[in-house]
Amino acid sequence: MFSGTRWRIALPYMALILLTMTGLLIYLSDLVRDSHMERLETQLTSEAQLVGEVLRPHLAQGTPPAIIDTLAHTYANLLSARVTIIGIDGVVLGDSHAERFDMDNHLYRPEVQQALSSGRGSSTRFSQTMGEEMMYVAAPVLQNGETIAVARVALPLRQIEADVARFRRTMTAATLAITLLALLLAVLVAESAARPIRELTRVAERLAEGDLSARLLPTTQDEFGTLARAFNQMADRLRGTIVTLTEERSRLAAVLENMADGTLITDEDGRVRLINPAAARLLKTNADAALGMSFAQVARDHRIIDVWHTCREERGERVQTTDLGRQGPFLQIIVTPLWDAESPTCLVILQDLTRIRRVETVRRDFISNISHELRTPLASLKALVDTLRDGAMDDPEAGARFLNRMETEVDAMTQMVRELLELSRIESGQVPFETAPTDMGDVLVPAVERLRPQSERAGLELTVAVDPDLPPAAADAERIQQVVTNLVHNAIKFTPPGGRVWVRGSIVRAPDARHAVLPPGEWLLLAVEDTGVGIPADDLPRIFERFYKADRARSGGGTGLGLAIAKHIVQAHHGHIWAVSVEGRGSTFYVALPAA
Ligand code: ADP
Repeated sequence: MFSGTRWRIALPYMALILLTMTGLLIYLSDLVRDSHMERLETQLTSEAQLVGEVLRPHLAQGTPPAIIDTLAHTYANLLSARVTIIGIDGVVLGDSHAERFDMDNHLYRPEVQQALSSGRGSSTRFSQTMGEEMMYVAAPVLQNGETIAVARVALPLRQIEADVARFRRTMTAATLAITLLALLLAVLVAESAARPIRELTRVAERLAEGDLSARLLPTTQDEFGTLARAFNQMADRLRGTIVTLTEERSRLAAVLENMADGTLITDEDGRVRLINPAAARLLKTNADAALGMSFAQVARDHRIIDVWHTCREERGERVQTTDLGRQGPFLQIIVTPLWDAESPTCLVILQDLTRIRRVETVRRDFISNISHELRTPLASLKALVDTLRDGAMDDPEAGARFLNRMETEVDAMTQMVRELLELSRIESGQVPFETAPTDMGDVLVPAVERLRPQSERAGLELTVAVDPDLPPAAADAERIQQVVTNLVHNAIKFTPPGGRVWVRGSIVRAPDARHAVLPPGEWLLLAVEDTGVGIPADDLPRIFERFYKADRARSGGGTGLGLAIAKHIVQAHHGHIWAVSVEGRGSTFYVALPAA
């Protein structure tokens, strides 16, 4: 109940006031009592002297004590006090309140002794005779400068005590009233002093709970006003810092979130403290679940764990590339120690180099393929030149034959170079495609008709059928015709005499069970089907690669670039191209184009 600033300030004041008032009460009570006693003593002295003066003639004449006693009674009544007359020898000559014969010798009563020695004496003590506390004052009765008796006047102190008690009561009441008043005042003062502190506490609590807009209203110009302003400044700066930090954090989080490289941080216990989506994807794990797990549990591959482990052991950066299996990615693992003080935290970066490696492989294959493709015609040219030089030139018939063969080789090489250039231009996007709504009949029929003589020479039956309701496709007619020509040419080339080649144009609505490769939507489907040699299952996924030839013997003069070019043209149309084939039975090549 008495905790809190209010009481901490008020209580000491109360104690101080109470203590002061109590001290004052005691002091003033004593003062009052003393002054009363002094006054009483003075009064009693005068009365004793008066009584002595009045009795002096009687005492000087030797009036019998019985009369003195009576006179003592008379004066006592007049003075409302006890009157005692004591002889010079200490014998009580008369007393207003006791039987003089029963009384002791009073010579050694302190007040009597003092009166005899110094002309006046007083004493306060309990009176056996009166049964209460009394003040006795004695004065000598002088006759011609000689003491002849002592007059003593006594009064009970009861009255004084009552006065003092009344005074004390009044004082006590005043003390209590003042203390209460002071208490009220102290509480009010303390309350007004504690209010700003409470306000400060409230605002500080709101800040602590995250309400960064909480501020104090500096209403005064005193220390609290200064404190409030300083506090507000601090809150402003705190908010600034937190906002900057939050922004920085979200920027960093966005960078990590969108980074292509996998990033992890492990703590001193080897537990994952940070993992970005790329790392989770590469390690085939869930980022949220991985947090707090051990690195080994998350990475699961001993090669990655080894690199990380070595970095921790040797406290140095480690870089290693590793292939995570046939289907897995080709990774570069970079583990960097983040040695701050004692804690061995590690930054693990996983770079997916699969694509780069594939590009590298394609580039290597390409060079090796092109060298291979050029070597054969060049070697044959060389042989022909040699033969000519060795004498064939002199034989006009043989010379003409050799020159024809040389021309064929050169034509083949020229064709290959042209196709390569074409492919490279399509790939690099240099060829402008002019897509327009194109009627597929206008594309298929001319392409097929152009190849009809060739198919007839090969002894094949070639048919073309276009769905009459076929809507136009969004296509570059010339390019799509190039694709169809290529497919039909291949079908003729790889189909033995007596076989058939069908060219069809129809519409399909994906999803379609027969053409699972197609994304949902409406597609114009061109199909070139033959009853030819077919393509081995192992080769089928690769036939669209540059220079890939499944059947080298039959392909003969082919460059192995035709399907690669076709694939690029179709892809540039946002279309799809694929093949279905059974070895020995025949193949079907499909081209799907989006409807216009
Ligand atoms: P090429 O100039 O050799 O014909 P392509 O890129 O057109 O080059 O074809 C690549 C390979 O795909 C061919 O060498 C052949 O092995 C195979 N191929 C293409 N079309 C057919 C088909 N209709 N039947 C069987 N095999 C085919």
